[in-house]
Amino acid sequence: MKKKLILLGPPGAGKGTVGSRLSVIWGLPLISSGDLLREHLKRGTEAGSNAGKYMEKGELVPDEIVIKMIEEKLTGPLCREGFIIDGFPRTIVQAEMLDTIVDDAGETKVIYLKAGDDFLVERLSLRRVCGGCGKIYHLVNLPPLKEGICDFCGRALIQRDDDKEEIIRRRLDVYRRMTAPLIEYYRSKNILHMVSGEGKLEDTVSEIKKIAKW
Ligand code: AMP
Repeated sequence: MKKKLILLGPPGAGKGTVGSRLSVIWGLPLISSGDLLREHLKRGTEAGSNAGKYMEKGELVPDEIVIKMIEEKLTGPLCREGFIIDGFPRTIVQAEMLDTIVDDAGETKVIYLKAGDDFLVERLSLRRVCGGCGKIYHLVNLPPLKEGICDFCGRALIQRDDDKEEIIRRRLDVYRRMTAPLIEYYRSKNILHMVSGEGKLEDTVSEIKKIAKW
């Protein structure tokens, strides 16, 4: 059965960390719109340099840029058995597009990771990511074995430019205006499940496994 999981929630709720654990457990690819955009930015593609102007301000990249990248991935061979998506959709237009991109085979579940603003600002300020493989760390709760170095690929950890407090606040504001309406969108389709994003990683992961029953 094709398994399709959409991780919704404000920035810092843990979508990337939880998604990468579930990706290993279920053997499904994790498709992160933020990672795809950062990859394009790094490679200096036209889409990437257009997107960068919005990303550095904490604003949403125009729908058509993101939708094209996501569509390419989701309809490719990598996602034949299903996928986990993190960071997409972020607007109603994106959600409607996703409905047309994804076929009806199998099951779709939407998990909303819930967390309060103060918690999110603190978590994002303490987040570090590997500049090489993108693995996510937290200076207190999920530190690397060796300070500043990725456990997996040995490259240096960095703080994302948009993980600075002023930009984090902007991202939360954008989230509330543009993305939070998706809660109702998916609730009305009866596929939405709320899970706390403030607990321990393993607790959140096991709750999602119980909900999905995959
Ligand atoms: P993330 O890694 O999910 O926190 O995303 C980082 C930044 O990439 C966001 O602040 C947006 O500027 C941009 N971005 C990621 N996903 C989307 C999306 N689905 N729609 C529009 N912009 C996005």
